[in-house]
Amino acid sequence: MNYDAFFRKQLDGLRREGNYRTFANIQRQSGAFPGAMHHRDRGPAPVTVWCSNDYLGMGQHPQVIAAMHEALDKCGAGAGGTRNISGTNHYHVLLERELADLHGTESALLFTSGYVSNWATLSTLASRLPGCVVLSDAGNHASMIEGIRHSRAERILFRHNDPEDLARHLAALPKDAPKLVAFESVYSMDGDIGPITEMCDVADRYGAMTYLDEVHGVGIYGPRGGGISEREGVAHRLTVIEGTLAKGFGVIGGYIAGSANMCDFVRSFASGFIFTTALPPHVAAGALASVRHLKASNTERLRHKEVVAKLRRALDAAGVPHYDNPSHIVPVIVGDPVRCKTICDLLLDRHGIYVQPINYPTVPRGTERLRITPSPLHSDADIAHLVEALSTLWAELHLARAA
Ligand code: PLP
Repeated sequence: MNYDAFFRKQLDGLRREGNYRTFANIQRQSGAFPGAMHHRDRGPAPVTVWCSNDYLGMGQHPQVIAAMHEALDKCGAGAGGTRNISGTNHYHVLLERELADLHGTESALLFTSGYVSNWATLSTLASRLPGCVVLSDAGNHASMIEGIRHSRAERILFRHNDPEDLARHLAALPKDAPKLVAFESVYSMDGDIGPITEMCDVADRYGAMTYLDEVHGVGIYGPRGGGISEREGVAHRLTVIEGTLAKGFGVIGGYIAGSANMCDFVRSFASGFIFTTALPPHVAAGALASVRHLKASNTERLRHKEVVAKLRRALDAAGVPHYDNPSHIVPVIVGDPVRCKTICDLLLDRHGIYVQPINYPTVPRGTERLRITPSPLHSDADIAHLVEALSTLWAELHLARAA
């Protein structure tokens, strides 16, 4: 077989559909967020980033950077091993304590990313509990789906954000079968928020465990940044809260929080925890500083909310259609992969605005979009510039305006 020809043919297929992905060559600039440098063939140009998951700009917060510098100087670059083989560092221990406190749980356990924490925890729980059935929200993230698939446990999909459909499926299962209900707080592409309380009510009624992905909620929601589950006072009802240190907290890494026994069980049996090198100490130190700061400071969350609301109002005034949702994620639907990429290319080239196109398979075909993520650091002038540029392109490409 001509392997290379096979690869090329598959890639050509993506190009024909308009789904071939190209990444902008962007250099973040410490202290200048959301400003960055775009490295083009014809030389670098400054851009404003409107699609970062560093939602609060914590990746450039002076306290985070200072903590990372200090730990780097103290401990050096790497962790030196898996957690089992010399890789557990004091910063890991401090960070796990801080995360447990954030969610009001007995324990927390770190992973190298949010993806790995979902994959490792769901696959371990569902495969190790004899006869476990996993009930998974139809909108769940790829990392949860892969973890559940890897467990080989029976999986039932329930309708997105629909506790009644969940109840219907649970009622049909044997009473004594172990059950795990997996869902998210903020869904990253539509920006909708799951009915956590109702999900817990249903799960409790049928004796099921609950697994909540708070990846797009932690740092951003709740009085201390504990996520939607903190804001709604239901953190104590969840068996597992899973989060990331890469988005609201601006660094990298993932974690779970829950009972001491549950965390210890995953620590002891999860291949994705045991057999990979631990996070570098300075990364854990940076995340620790970020979590601590956002526990005490509401400034970033309040300003974030304000910028999101301002952007939505400006888009409405210009008739640029966007999903009306209760979160900080502003999806502007284009509905066609080629146009979606064209808009993003023109925003970057002509207007110095960076928004990455979101196409299939990240979102269903026909719902291709710009996923705009305002931060507390975007100014009124940034908003005006973005909306003016979008409005010009909407006219030029004859796209439908919102009423
Ligand atoms: N869970 C959800 C819902 C996500 O959207 C993502 C990533 O975007 C992850 C988990 C993975 O988190 P991380 O980026 O920390 O690997």
